[in-house]
Amino acid sequence: MSDLKNIVKEFFVKLNCTVIGDDILLIENVPKDFEKIYGKNGPYRFAFEENADGELLTSSSHLFNVISEYLRNKAKVTLLKLELEEISPDELQKHIHFNGYNIYKINKKSNNDYIYKLTFETTIHYLNETEKVINHLYIHDNTLIENFNLEDYQTIPATRREIKNEGELDMKLPQEKIKQLLHDRLLEIKEKLKVSLDREILRINEHYNNLSHEANKEIESTRVKLAELKNSHEDLQTKKVKEQKLQEAIIRLEEKIHPQELEKEKKFHLIEEKNKHSINISSKLLNQTVICFPIFSLQMVFMNNKKFKTVDAEFNALTKQIHKIVCECCSLEIKEIIICSSNHLLCRQCGDRCSCNAIQCIKCRKSNCYLCSKQICDSCTSLCSMCRKNICQSDAKTDFITKKIICRQCSTTCPSCKRLGSKQLFKKIENKFYCPSCYGKIKIQEVF
Ligand SMILES: [Zn+2]
Ligand SMILES: [Zn+2]
Ligand SMILES: [Zn+2]
Ligand SMILES: [Zn+2]
Ligand SMILES: [Zn+2]
Ligand SMILES: [Zn+2]
Repeated sequence: MSDLKNIVKEFFVKLNCTVIGDDILLIENVPKDFEKIYGKNGPYRFAFEENADGELLTSSSHLFNVISEYLRNKAKVTLLKLELEEISPDELQKHIHFNGYNIYKINKKSNNDYIYKLTFETTIHYLNETEKVINHLYIHDNTLIENFNLEDYQTIPATRREIKNEGELDMKLPQEKIKQLLHDRLLEIKEKLKVSLDREILRINEHYNNLSHEANKEIESTRVKLAELKNSHEDLQTKKVKEQKLQEAIIRLEEKIHPQELEKEKKFHLIEEKNKHSINISSKLLNQTVICFPIFSLQMVFMNNKKFKTVDAEFNALTKQIHKIVCECCSLEIKEIIICSSNHLLCRQCGDRCSCNAIQCIKCRKSNCYLCSKQICDSCTSLCSMCRKNICQSDAKTDFITKKIICRQCSTTCPSCKRLGSKQLFKKIENKFYCPSCYGKIKIQEVF
């Protein structure tokens, strides 16, 4: 009894399940593939003695067949990791046009992706021949891939712990592919079998034709013998016995070549021959290799003398391709770095030049100069310190007193010193606005 318990315990521990208890084993965290072949979902509660609280296991329990089948299949799974190089900033330039930007830094995070290599052995059996065909298939994301060959890569063994979440494999696809791959060979065999079957059918037909022919000949000769007997001088008694024998022989022969009987027998032989000329095909999965390779999530920080911009991307270390750099306006994938005046990453279609020559995109906040209505962007907009309105570069002036930006509307030029400043700080003498310093001088002149 304790032997069974040990087998069960050892098996589930090796499967990385949680095994609790002593008399009764509670098994938790059962892998999905095991649940599938056992036909019951975990957790399991196994008992080894009658009347205990759990599923009673005996040496004839179905579980032990499942365990040995599982172990048999599991032994054929190979886990491998591809040794691939990470990407360097220099290599990035081969994939992305930097357009004058530099890489300030790259943050990397790696995720695993998987390719399955399935090796099938197909046995084709026909007549007395047996052919074995080995096919290797590669599957990624439940799609067959043709341009990958494991032999082209450096690999290292991987552990179960490293390979997780590899997803479920849909076996319909490889089975269909195997059928396709066998198609031409099967056609050749069918062709060969057809020739052989035609020959056999001909032989059978000839055989039955000959059979009738031979029998008819024999009937004929027996009838001749019968006629001769009538004219012979043997005694009546002997004649009668001989005559009866010959009659019986004729009946037997006639029965033998009775069309219905003959047809039945021939049909049987033809069916038998057709069965002999059929093809038996069976395929089995010899080996399954799970090949793991990294996909890097990149966070690239680009910079020039004016700004920094973080750009996300994905680097597939296997295909050496950069993906998922997208225009922040239209979400299309891009292969170059274009950044607008508001620090948006964009594609050529979504960008435009502002009158100040800076790049503007459709996401950028757009405004117009309130004085001349010209469209202005983030890099050419100024804010008047007095009225707080947006103005273009040509309408933005500097107040000579406060040194702040001021618009045409809020400022005026002193008629005396020709300097420009805020109307609010200027003072009026005879309908003219003078700056504070000129105003003071004029006032003193008036007094004297
Ligand atoms: Zn775009
Ligand atoms: Zn923008
Ligand atoms: Zn303006
Ligand atoms: Zn502008
Ligand atoms: Zn103003
Ligand atoms: Zn002045």
